[in-house]
Amino acid sequence: MYTIIDLKNILNVLTYTQSTDGAGQMSPKRNDTLKVKLERDIIAGLLKPGARLDEVSLAERFQVSRTPIREALLQLSSMGLVQLRPRRGAVVAEIGLKELLDMFEVMAELEGMCGRLAARRATKPELDHLQDVHAASEDAVTAGDYDAYYRCNVAFHETIYQASRNLFLAEQTMKLRNRLAPYRRSQLHQNGRLSGSFNEHKAILAALIAQDGAAAERLMQGHLTAQGGSMNDFIASLPDDVLNRSDPAAVAAG
Ligand SMILES: [Zn+2]
Repeated sequence: MYTIIDLKNILNVLTYTQSTDGAGQMSPKRNDTLKVKLERDIIAGLLKPGARLDEVSLAERFQVSRTPIREALLQLSSMGLVQLRPRRGAVVAEIGLKELLDMFEVMAELEGMCGRLAARRATKPELDHLQDVHAASEDAVTAGDYDAYYRCNVAFHETIYQASRNLFLAEQTMKLRNRLAPYRRSQLHQNGRLSGSFNEHKAILAALIAQDGAAAERLMQGHLTAQGGSMNDFIASLPDDVLNRSDPAAVAAG
């Protein structure tokens, strides 16, 4: 089940993700829960897939007892971001190659559906906002500023999710995107991907303005699939540890 509060939390996480530039500066609000802090670290890639989440050192870092740490890890595990392994403790979830490809396939469908619905339902202010974000991203492409483009990209997609006017869909799409986030950021660094992505956004925006749902859906799906160009490029863009992971079946079962 979902609530507006859940979505707000997700948006907060996304906003945070946008505000980090990979250097790890954090200014968590004091009322942030432990779970949200760890979740942000995982989504921002500060805690890498496979990294051990040791209860004792986390308790020291956050100046709390081990009980709230354990509760936070349990919550993150139910979200799929953390794996609890018997005798080995908690680790940041590792996704095997097959599972990752399956997830990208679903992600393309979710993004496509957001695009289709947004073409029918986006408001004028939302379309205006998309145009502003798109214009800002052009500056980032010109400057070759990957971090700035990444932030524009998040804002662009997030606005389309919201414009779908389907809160459940928006929530599911953001959840899955957060799980895939550690695997997607590096893809923008591939040769020519920045301007390729920009041109795809341009076509998506035109379809949304024309209220052409079928085109918006197809373009959003294609945009996601094209994140890595060809399948070989996509696989090559993944971190080495995904490709070298020895027991993807065990990961998938988690
Ligand atoms: Zn994009």
